[in-house]
Amino acid sequence: MKQVHSQHVDDESYFDSYEETSFLKTSYEEQIKLKSQYINTQFQSLDIKSDIKPIILADHPQHYRHKVTSSATNTKANGKWQLKLGFYIENTHKIKPVFESILQHKAIENTLKNIETILQKNKFTAYVKGHSRGIIKHVLIKRSYDSGDLLVVFVTQGRIFPNSKQIIGMIREKNPSIKTVVQIIQNTDTHIVLYGEDKVLYGPGYIIDKIDDLSFKLSAKSFYQVNPEQMMKLYHNAFDLANINKSELVVDCYSGIGTLSLLAAKKAKSVVAVEMNATAVKDAIENASRNHINNVKFIKDDAAHFLETYQERVDVLLIDPPRIGVSMNFIEAIKTLKPKRIVYISCFVETQIRDIKQLNHLYDIEAVQPVDMFPYTSHIENIVLLTLK
Ligand code: SAH
Repeated sequence: MKQVHSQHVDDESYFDSYEETSFLKTSYEEQIKLKSQYINTQFQSLDIKSDIKPIILADHPQHYRHKVTSSATNTKANGKWQLKLGFYIENTHKIKPVFESILQHKAIENTLKNIETILQKNKFTAYVKGHSRGIIKHVLIKRSYDSGDLLVVFVTQGRIFPNSKQIIGMIREKNPSIKTVVQIIQNTDTHIVLYGEDKVLYGPGYIIDKIDDLSFKLSAKSFYQVNPEQMMKLYHNAFDLANINKSELVVDCYSGIGTLSLLAAKKAKSVVAVEMNATAVKDAIENASRNHINNVKFIKDDAAHFLETYQERVDVLLIDPPRIGVSMNFIEAIKTLKPKRIVYISCFVETQIRDIKQLNHLYDIEAVQPVDMFPYTSHIENIVLLTLK
């Protein structure tokens, strides 16, 4: 089995495509077998202190995605063009006008259906490169696992969204769970979905989700794991491995909206968290005060740049980068700082192993814990615990 390599730098920003669904016709049991074999093969050449732990299974392997990015296209029906929502076909610029899938939560699918119908009835068309009329590019929906609340994002070409108030009223009448609607305004042709100014059209611009007893603000532009049930297991297992105590100093790199940082802050003396996305950092700071957590500091910076210049002691380093993994400069900074333990969470095992190999002479691979975060796709989430020799 090969994990699909894509150009995604930040999963939050790029198109969802059918590449994600390569295991659609494989039984869940078989998927787990293939994923376990894949992890075993990948780690074969490495010396691990204990057996690779069994992959953590999903209790609900279908309809788990709480974030869906659909893209708009125009299809001909009864001699007339009409807007359809769907997903990109892998490695093409073509959109398949079907958004139903085994992956996404039914409430999101249902909402997309209603939005599509209402946009059609109101004669909206999809933006097509080179044509001046259509405006809709993407419709993205996030759902709070805790409350069922929905955040809807319309990505449009240009600022104009005719009758947005009435349109949102009609959509909310069908789907009262929609608590906020955001427009992202684009003026260029870009493959980054969430690029552009964001304008709140309805509600506060965010929804709230809960992890354990902490609450988190989810906004249009910041990263949040797409599978909440597996996310909880991922985080709990990561902290079991990290075994952080009240005297320890923690650095959380690639911290997003501060999920791991705040969970760590409850166990540690203090936490410093680093994240490049300005919206995510803003959310993270608000999440800390929302939860009355004071022993955490959020810094907007490139993780490698930050770590290279960091002077304090680091007991535990948490790393959760996008698929590209970390840079050589980041590795060099680890070699200088020498944290006692590193918990490396990754959604792309090949780059994770590449990075770990660079630290082989300094760190033992204490534990490997895969998590089935993305059932019915070839992707695997994996936690590795490294301890200083
Ligand atoms: N730990 C968080 C987020 C992980 S996703 C969680 O579990 O929710 C990876 C995060 O890394 C994203 O928020 C992305 O914006 C951020 N990121 C990507 N490249 C970065 C870089 N070079 N420096 C710092 N943060 C980066």
